[in-house]
Amino acid sequence: HRNRKLIAHIIQFENRRQILVTHDITESERIDMMRRDFIANASHELRTPLTVINGFLEISSMQPDLDVKTRTAHLKLMTEQGHRMQSLVDDMLTLTRLESVDFPVRPEHINMTALMEQLVADMNGLSMGKHPLTFINEGPDLMGSMDELRSAFSNLVSNAVRYTPAGGNITISWTNTEAGPKFMVKDSGIGIGSEHLFRLTERFYRVDKSRSRETQGTGLGLAIVKHVALRHKAQLTIDSTPDVGSTFALQFPIEAAIL
Ligand code: ADP
Repeated sequence: HRNRKLIAHIIQFENRRQILVTHDITESERIDMMRRDFIANASHELRTPLTVINGFLEISSMQPDLDVKTRTAHLKLMTEQGHRMQSLVDDMLTLTRLESVDFPVRPEHINMTALMEQLVADMNGLSMGKHPLTFINEGPDLMGSMDELRSAFSNLVSNAVRYTPAGGNITISWTNTEAGPKFMVKDSGIGIGSEHLFRLTERFYRVDKSRSRETQGTGLGLAIVKHVALRHKAQLTIDSTPDVGSTFALQFPIEAAIL
């Protein structure tokens, strides 16, 4: 095939017999490229907070007599950047674990009512009263990984909070479809142009870099959601209209529900 890349080796035996061995490197090259991209992006993301922290540390050592107010302000900025690095590294480790075949899902019985209560409490804290959070139906108990599902749900809801201007609405709901239980997060936020939709779950892909950073985004949230969905045989769908809002849904298979 024209677009395929092959590596060929010739193995020669003493009896003059020769064998030609070919490997298709198209796939391995693609994986290699993705890995290089990931390392480049991750390094770049970590470099910004590191530069800020190092800058203030240098000021601190060169100007030991700085007044308390300035020093406190510098410490605050350094702490913020430290937290930023922490979230990035945490998300990168989570993704690595989710992608590893050595860590299959260990299914457990998930009490969805408790999980949803906790989620809503966390999200009300994040939103700080800026968005009315409506919650419809508790959802069925599921078999799955509690940590992974908690992380997927909270990524989707925190995105809704972060990309919806104050006063907008966010609705979390569970419905029973023929295919199985469906979790939905609907927001009346900034929405996403269709040209971005198919790339959203790529690591570090953002529609608006500055908005993502301002709201403490790592750019890895939807990549995490995608992997959690894959591991639970759930399907992630995104439906969005710019300036109107977005709906993110996770459709679980019927077998996942505990009846
Ligand atoms: P981030 O940490 O940047 O939010 P994500 O992987 O969670 O990273 O999301 C990727 C991008 O998708 C975001 O940067 C944002 O542009 C877009 N996005 C995600 N959720 C929403 C939403 N509910 N409304 C509008 N845009 C969203």
